[in-house]
Amino acid sequence: MNEMIFLLLLFGLPAALGFKLALSRGKNPLLWGMLSGVFPFFLVVLHFHRPDNEIPGHFRKCTHCGRTFRWKDTACKYCGTEVSDSKPG
Ligand SMILES: [Zn+2]
Repeated sequence: MNEMIFLLLLFGLPAALGFKLALSRGKNPLLWGMLSGVFPFFLVVLHFHRPDNEIPGHFRKCTHCGRTFRWKDTACKYCGTEVSDSKPG
């Protein structure tokens, strides 16, 4: 019983984290969840990865320079262009 919990924490926790990170970066969550469960190093890879496209709720794409930055930021951190929320919703 205790071994099960130990294994669950050892592989399940990084796998769940990898799943969440992959989702927020527009990657395949199942694949990256599995990879992170086996090699937690992939969590670091995911963490520093910036998506190429806008992912609503997670990353915005700058209309000026085309780079992606965090959704909660109100201005592009690369060129300083302010976010214009013209899209409905
Ligand atoms: Zn920009």
